[in-house]
Amino acid sequence: MTLLKADELYRFYHRGDEEVKALRGVSLVLETGEMIALIGPSGSGKSTLLHCLAGLDDPDGGMVSVAGQPMTRQPEAARRKLRSRLMGIMRQKDNLFSHLSVAENAKLARQLAGVPGDGSSDDVFRRIGLQDRTASFPPQLSGGERARAGLAVAMASNPKLLLLDEPTGEVDAETEKAILGLLAEYRARGGAVVVATHNPAMARLASVALNMKDGRIVDV
Ligand code: ADP
Ligand code: MG
Repeated sequence: MTLLKADELYRFYHRGDEEVKALRGVSLVLETGEMIALIGPSGSGKSTLLHCLAGLDDPDGGMVSVAGQPMTRQPEAARRKLRSRLMGIMRQKDNLFSHLSVAENAKLARQLAGVPGDGSSDDVFRRIGLQDRTASFPPQLSGGERARAGLAVAMASNPKLLLLDEPTGEVDAETEKAILGLLAEYRARGGAVVVATHNPAMARLASVALNMKDGRIVDV
């Protein structure tokens, strides 16, 4: 089943007279159980692409659909529904509500997705070494802990699709291994992933690696 489709995405930013062509005609298709790794230098458009796929940003041209439903140029309420029911999203930062504990963030993600339970019996937090920090509030966590908590919350509702922006960016080798293991199992259960990464092991785990350069997917 096609979970995510992007057709010819364009996104331009304007700073004064300067135009940044962040995406220049990017297309991709993600099927159930697949994992796409977006690799490429800083500034090549990976985060912009993930934001457009998640419906957090609208492309200036082109179209994203999620499980056959249009995401692009839809009212925020419709985009939010697709996001909360089908997707787990981890951005490069600001993934958590600061006034809620880590456990409450996870519980909220489940409620919005219509998944019963608070997730406290799930072992994701233990696997990534955060079992003692679930009562903490995001500002009390280190950058690396916040990133791990962001991933755990993205996975908390067991979404069909994960969109992850550099999930191993700030973690040690042991946590990196745990994250790779979690994602491998998630895929084996039929989950689909798009991940922006500089991590070679993460790229190897993917079924497809797409190289981005200057807003385009290129051959290397
Ligand atoms: P990556 O994630 O691969 O590092 P980004 O998608 O963050 O790349 O950025 C792609 C390009 O778009 C870069 O040149 C970046 O400076 C620019 N850009 C990203 N976000 C904005 C924004 N909100 N306003 C202006 N330019 C932006
Ligand atoms: Mg980025």
